[in-house]
Amino acid sequence: MQLTPKGAAARLFQYPRPVSILFFCNWRDNTSSLTLIQVNMEKLIITVGITGSRITRQQTPYIPITPEEIARSGIEAWGAGASILHIHVRDPKTGLGTQDLSLFKEVVDRIRSKTDAILCLTTSGIPGRNLQFQERLVPLSLNPELVSFDAGSINMRENVFLNPPEFLETLAKETLMKGIKPELEVFEVGMVDTCLRYMEKGLLKPPLHFQFVLGVLGGMPATAKSLLHLSEIVPQGSTWSVIGIGPGQLPMAMTGMVMGGHVRVGLEDNIYYSKGVLAESNAQLVERVVRIAKEFGREIATPQESRKILNLL
Ligand code: ZN
Repeated sequence: MQLTPKGAAARLFQYPRPVSILFFCNWRDNTSSLTLIQVNMEKLIITVGITGSRITRQQTPYIPITPEEIARSGIEAWGAGASILHIHVRDPKTGLGTQDLSLFKEVVDRIRSKTDAILCLTTSGIPGRNLQFQERLVPLSLNPELVSFDAGSINMRENVFLNPPEFLETLAKETLMKGIKPELEVFEVGMVDTCLRYMEKGLLKPPLHFQFVLGVLGGMPATAKSLLHLSEIVPQGSTWSVIGIGPGQLPMAMTGMVMGGHVRVGLEDNIYYSKGVLAESNAQLVERVVRIAKEFGREIATPQESRKILNLL
């Protein structure tokens, strides 16, 4: 006799695309709260944060510094399955982050000549060093499809990463004018509210795309609970992706993937492949999430498919 699922179970098995069911149990206080989520998932967009502005060669010899190294690392990560390349540049002499337009241009030109990747250029500058606002806007002149939009100020260790209303409103207006989509970087829950207010004022155009940054000291922790809450409060029709900082990278990528969101990995956020073992390239970190996604049954979006999902076309 052949066993076939009945009722709700039968309907579940008829979904055309992979369906994920998450059970959240609070084992610690032994309550019986149980949540069932069904997610009809689209293809997975992988973003890679190539170098950021903070990691030094003393921390890892594998961090790309020169424009040539940053571009090469991005091209490799694209080849491994990343469709969005999130780019900072470094001053090759000092190794420090900079908003120098000619360095951005060199990286962007090199990548554009070899790939169809979506470029997300940073407007963060150097978190904590708080560059002049106009300097932070410089990459917009290269017409990327995405720019980062850090949706509020936050204390990071002994520094303040300043993103006051004056800066955010200017940045939002510039992106509207140039037709660039802001990637809304959210470090804590109040920043979602800020984005919603800007949307109501017409400064951010829906559908919004959020990047949840979890595990920064001073921000929300890299836990499933943080991600669940944030993903539930964004407006219907939004897309979201998650970054787990440091040891949170792989757990958050896996959780985000299972919840139907998108993921970011890369050396900007995490320099280790496993405990005590340095990641040797951005491509290595991308390859791992590609393997996991495939095993899980989630297909990887190409850059063109990502454009459709993010409403960039
Ligand atoms: Zn960044």
